[in-house]
Amino acid sequence: MGDDPGHRVIVATKNRGKLDEIRCALSFPGWEFVTAEDVGIEPPEVEETGETFVDNALLKAGAYHRLFGLPTLADDSGLMVDALGGEPGVRSARYAGEGAADADNNAKLLTALAGTPAQERRARFECAVAYVDGLGAETTARGTCEGAIGTAPRGSGGFGYDPLFLPDATGGRTMAELSADEKNAISHRGHALRALAEALGGL
Ligand code: IMP
Repeated sequence: MGDDPGHRVIVATKNRGKLDEIRCALSFPGWEFVTAEDVGIEPPEVEETGETFVDNALLKAGAYHRLFGLPTLADDSGLMVDALGGEPGVRSARYAGEGAADADNNAKLLTALAGTPAQERRARFECAVAYVDGLGAETTARGTCEGAIGTAPRGSGGFGYDPLFLPDATGGRTMAELSADEKNAISHRGHALRALAEALGGL
């Protein structure tokens, strides 16, 4: 893609796991996905005050777009566990407290589900992505991934709750036991990003 700035997209995240997955799902020739840090700019602090993943994705994309004036992509996502009434939901990143590490969130989830039988551990990941183009036009898309919560963490791929999440489509392997391409093919983020690319006419 050379230096064509029209194909450079700022990704409104500090989460390298999300960034890697966005690059994997949208690996189109000529498109480059970079973070604020990658271009040497302090990322804005965005309060995720929305009630839905779409609201929060738009909040993040809008804040970064105002700062950079460049095409911007944001992802807001989380895990909804049926037995916990949809928790941790939009609070997934901070389930065990502000700034919680993935391991703390996973430990809290296992504790919350202690004694819950396998058939009552249904859960799904949801992802909303928001794209704001160079002129400020907004496009959003969503994706989900159905599965269940395991009883112990397994695997070292991905991020977040991946070691505990057993997608329906993977024959008992956790999300963290999948390759990047395997996760991309079935994940909430992969589905959302492919729907976004389609809505944008192929990106
Ligand atoms: P966000 O940065 O507010 O969108 O927080 C997303 C949080 O949801 C992450 O920090 C993870 O805890 C969780 N999450 C979202 N997507 C995934 C995924 O693909 N795998 C595992 N956890 C995820």
